[in-house]
Amino acid sequence: FSTVTVLDIPFIKTTAAKFQETLQQRILTQQNTFVVTANPEIVMYAHHHPDYQQLLQAADFVTPDGIGILDGAKILKQPLPERITGFDTLIDLLQWASDHHRSAYFVGAKPEVIAALKHKLPQDYPGLVIAGLHDGYFKDDSAIVADIQRTQPDMVFAALGFPKQENFIAEHRQTTKGLWMGVGGSFDVLAG
Ligand code: UDP
Repeated sequence: FSTVTVLDIPFIKTTAAKFQETLQQRILTQQNTFVVTANPEIVMYAHHHPDYQQLLQAADFVTPDGIGILDGAKILKQPLPERITGFDTLIDLLQWASDHHRSAYFVGAKPEVIAALKHKLPQDYPGLVIAGLHDGYFKDDSAIVADIQRTQPDMVFAALGFPKQENFIAEHRQTTKGLWMGVGGSFDVLAG
């Protein structure tokens, strides 16, 4: 995709539907992929934290997850077609995974949210292969990362909030050939 740079972050210039197709294709061809769905809060944080900004610039795709980003692009006279939110991207991937028996690993949110997800995901996405589920309140990454490495999920969703989730992904993404995406508070919504 071509990109539009807003506050030093390159946003992909495409539609949610085309983006979804690309992600599915990359999963099918086992390309390691790091997706950031960046809202204005994330962009502002990156603006003031160079290490985090570098990490976003190293992601494969950064999507505009907020009207504020679209407004910024418009002011630069390089409009972006539409918002691509983390939640919608997650839901579309889960539906696709369910239809095609693909696997996902879920790390993040509170233990009770993870317990609810464990119950709800098989009901809502019967074909989805759940490689693993772990809450986001751990001290040591190593057991979770070993579990991810062992199960080799097609997708890893990290719901740790920013910047934690992007730091976690940047550090561990090479342990699989799949997709990694930070999804903020999405597990709380999914479990609700
Ligand atoms: N969270 C977590 N571990 C932490 C801090 C937060 O798993 O150490 C979870 C929290 O339970 C919630 C999500 O991360 O599910 C953060 O949601 P929020 O909406 O605050 O994140 P944002 O969308 O702003 O990144």
